[in-house]
Amino acid sequence: MDKICIEELKIFAHHGVFEHENINGQNFYVNAVLYVDTEKAGISDDLEESVDYSKVCDLIYKVMTENTYKLIETAAQKIAEAILLKFSLVKSVDIEVNKPEAPIDMEFRKLSVKVHRGWHDVLVAVGSNIGDSHTFIENGIKALEESVYNKDVRRSKLIVTKPYGYTDQPDFLNGAVRLKTMLSPHGLLDLLHDIEAKADRKRKIHWGPRTLDLDIIFYDHEIIDDEDLTIPHADMHNRSFVLIPAAELMPAYRHPLLGLTVKELLERLEK
Ligand code: ADP
Ligand code: MG
Repeated sequence: MDKICIEELKIFAHHGVFEHENINGQNFYVNAVLYVDTEKAGISDDLEESVDYSKVCDLIYKVMTENTYKLIETAAQKIAEAILLKFSLVKSVDIEVNKPEAPIDMEFRKLSVKVHRGWHDVLVAVGSNIGDSHTFIENGIKALEESVYNKDVRRSKLIVTKPYGYTDQPDFLNGAVRLKTMLSPHGLLDLLHDIEAKADRKRKIHWGPRTLDLDIIFYDHEIIDDEDLTIPHADMHNRSFVLIPAAELMPAYRHPLLGLTVKELLERLEK
């Protein structure tokens, strides 16, 4: 991917854990690498086809000077968020915030925080089988749309399905949402848990009745298997109520472990 690089943008600001830093201020230096496909702009010589770096510098200045953060971690995070939200051609960013006057009683060559943030293509399955399932799902999708960390939220049709696993419970309403998120897989899981908790979700019986269930099915082509997260979702290829909505939103997506597309997985299950 092509890059637009901004180096050592000098900004006087007031970030720091100590009160004197918040009052007196100090110089910070920001480095930014914007990952952008510049081929079109390179051929057409048209700024509209690329990202205006002077506007990016203005935005970095604004984030750094209109806020007072304790941590340069936060400054870097907020700069990354602001750039990704404002400049849609930017796929991902590296942001480094340097603090050359950091309050350390030793000589040091450099102190900085570097973060990488970008847009990820995600499929989230939604399900509900207690109470007003339509409203729980509607509010859950709205919460995903309203999160500043997400964009381009597209939804499938909802389908009514018989319970799976633990079968002595009401029918389910199921669907899926495809979206772009700048959260990490675990950050997205935290967001989903918050949204479930707001829907009054109680975790009692595994596979038991629930007001709202939000599961990550795919996250780019990543393969994850740890205590909290299995991606692609471990059982998705056996569940038509996941594959039908998934096939509506991303039929050609290839399962990174099974090697078949979503459409092929659904056809295989239906046989
Ligand atoms: P289930 O969705 O299997 O019925 P829960 O919604 O109660 O069960 O989730 C239980 C735990 O499953 C979550 O706390 C989460 O840590 C874990 N989990 C593992 N993989 C995923 C995933 N891909 N999406 C959502 N949760 C997951
Ligand atoms: Mg779940």
